[in-house]
Amino acid sequence: MTASDLPRTGELLHLRGNALDKGDPVALPLTMSSMFHLPGQWQGEASYGRVDNPTWEHLEHVLTHLEQAPCLSFPSGMAAISAALFATLKAGARLLIPSDGYYVTRRLSARFLAQLGVEVVERPTDSFREGGFDGFDVVFVETPSNPKLDMVDLAAVAKEVRAAGGISIADNTTLTPLGQRPLDLGIDMVVSSDTKCMGGHSDALMGHVATRNAHLFDAVKEWRSFSGSIPGPHAAWLLHRGLETLDVRFDRMCSSAGVIAQRLADHPGVELVRYPGLAGDPSHPLACQQTHRFGFLVSLTLGSEEKAEAFINGCPLLRPATSFGGVHSSAERRARWGDDVAPGFVRLSVGCEPVEELWAALDNSLKAC
Ligand SMILES: *Cc1c(COP(=O)(O)O)cnc(C)c1O
Repeated sequence: MTASDLPRTGELLHLRGNALDKGDPVALPLTMSSMFHLPGQWQGEASYGRVDNPTWEHLEHVLTHLEQAPCLSFPSGMAAISAALFATLKAGARLLIPSDGYYVTRRLSARFLAQLGVEVVERPTDSFREGGFDGFDVVFVETPSNPKLDMVDLAAVAKEVRAAGGISIADNTTLTPLGQRPLDLGIDMVVSSDTKCMGGHSDALMGHVATRNAHLFDAVKEWRSFSGSIPGPHAAWLLHRGLETLDVRFDRMCSSAGVIAQRLADHPGVELVRYPGLAGDPSHPLACQQTHRFGFLVSLTLGSEEKAEAFINGCPLLRPATSFGGVHSSAERRARWGDDVAPGFVRLSVGCEPVEELWAALDNSLKAC
């Protein structure tokens, strides 16, 4: 993967500025309005707040630049995932999802899609392509998977699903469009939780769908305006502000994660480290083939639940919190939510703290646990 495949993040910072009229505000205005001034015949102007909002429209302009594909924003990652699935599935359809991906996607499928007559099949990410994709209408992948960080070959999935007549969807939350570009690898639709690194400040829930297929785009847009699953203007404004620093934050976070993953792997107190950037990691070959960065998530396994809790709660530079991708580092023991991992398995989200300061704090906490 070469840097020239990536969107220009300098241009991103001037997308709004270059379209301004004299006297316009340089920063994006927050438009809080359900009504728009609309005398006479409607001629395509903004009409009603469930359908149009200038703040999300500008956010979508920025997202479209990042994805190099038309985008629709949603009030959360799950709203984006729901839109992608409800817009593509119907009774009698077959859906394939990862058994080890974000757990709410599985729960949504089991609780609501199944009762509408969708047959849901699960497979682990590390052997996702085994068995092929014949008979599946929609194939949903998440790579690297969350929290175990296994990967699947996106170009191969896209090609095989298309040959079998299905639609492929990739959840690209953990790597962002600056770390991995599923649409460029042939995937039909990308979904993302922008609550995580895209927003980056742990102050807003948001999500988006990106696709270059006009038919899929129209279906997702109709889902949004008919279901009412629209982002609030304030959250959209916060995400837009966060995206202005995505490049710097993501760069720092991935660079630090690479340093920290290696030091954790060399640490006598740590049993196992998973990070796609480590040379011996099972995900490393695929990560080299299809990602631009190895990400900011590192999984480490400590000897017991007690050790893991002491490590997380004893470190002053770690927020003990679910979710990830903030400017502040955070960590949690995933077994507390029932993920199929060891009791001492910790998902660490490396933030923007200077790497040596962060490592000193992590190392101290490891020594004490
Ligand atoms: C957090 C997350 C989601 C859900 O996003 P929300 O914004 O919490 O609704 C979906 N997929 C992945 C991989 C996530 O990490």
